[in-house]
Amino acid sequence: MSTEQTAPQETPVLQAVEVTKHFEMPGGARVHAVEHANVTLHPGRIVALVGESGSGKTTVARLLARMYATTSGTIELNGEPVTTRRAPGRDYHRQVQLIFQDPFASLHPGHTIGYTLQRPLLIHRHARTKAQARSLAAELLEQVGLSPAQDYLSKLPHSLSGGQRQRVVIARALAVRPSVLLGDEPISMLDVSIRLDMLNLLGKLRDERGLALLYITHDIASARYLCDEVQVMYAGQMVEGGPKEEVINTPRHPYTRMLVEASPDPARRIVVDRATAFDEGETAGEPPNLTDPPAGCRFHPRCPFAMDECRTSFPPRTDLGDGHWAHCWLHDKGRGAELAAPLKGMEVDPASVATG
Ligand code: SF4
Repeated sequence: MSTEQTAPQETPVLQAVEVTKHFEMPGGARVHAVEHANVTLHPGRIVALVGESGSGKTTVARLLARMYATTSGTIELNGEPVTTRRAPGRDYHRQVQLIFQDPFASLHPGHTIGYTLQRPLLIHRHARTKAQARSLAAELLEQVGLSPAQDYLSKLPHSLSGGQRQRVVIARALAVRPSVLLGDEPISMLDVSIRLDMLNLLGKLRDERGLALLYITHDIASARYLCDEVQVMYAGQMVEGGPKEEVINTPRHPYTRMLVEASPDPARRIVVDRATAFDEGETAGEPPNLTDPPAGCRFHPRCPFAMDECRTSFPPRTDLGDGHWAHCWLHDKGRGAELAAPLKGMEVDPASVATG
């Protein structure tokens, strides 16, 4: 697995710029799902979007996939803003593919694997004849590790395991030759014994095809294993991001620190060499209701460092060097050092990814 942390030079293939999404609910309530989020995806790089359930991660992926229109902000594909008024065309979906969490719901139960893969090949004209489509479908199956491919082409989804189905889902996404894959918790419903295989497959697609990937997860260990960069989201707000080693080894936002310290990774024996502010009980609480989110920093009701400013204003972005950034008033107030103590001993054993 590549751990290279070079700064990307290429134009981003896909970007969310200051994107906000509010959902109007029956009865007039408004869900403030995502606020001013930025995500930048480069060819050959994987960005993990990490956070608890309900943090807005899936909404960000669906905004990038243009399943939802933005409330404000822009989505840019290859540096060009895409209009949010028109439904996305075939060309957009050819370039940007979304992989859902549930491989059982992602495939039509009555269609063979061969049909499922040949259809996009023919629709997007990567194959001219059915025979050509069948041959390319077999190649795709081999690429995602379903071999010999001929054994799978005539099968129906119900005869495959969850891991095999998710590989078919990935093969179907690859059939259109995308530039970007958006993986929404793509391994979380799979048996723990095959999660590592799936992560290695995604890493291979990055390395060999130069795909840009957004990997959505609540699992810090898998993010660290697979990804180049990590962004952390809490209650619809992006709170921290940067190279994965920086963010996970030296979290500079209280919420990230809480996530890392709470991560149930048996191989990451965190040694915290001072009493932290996260002793049991101090971060008790749930993420807020996004129909009436807290003002300012939405983490403030759970944050042991909360100050007056936190309750009224969302903090500006502080650039911490080497591409690491955070939105937290502690940095603005010169108190960032309180979060700067590195977490020691955070080597991740691949086996822990499979059990995490
Ligand atoms: Fe805590 Fe304030 Fe920082 Fe939010 S901005 S994480 S409430 S210290």
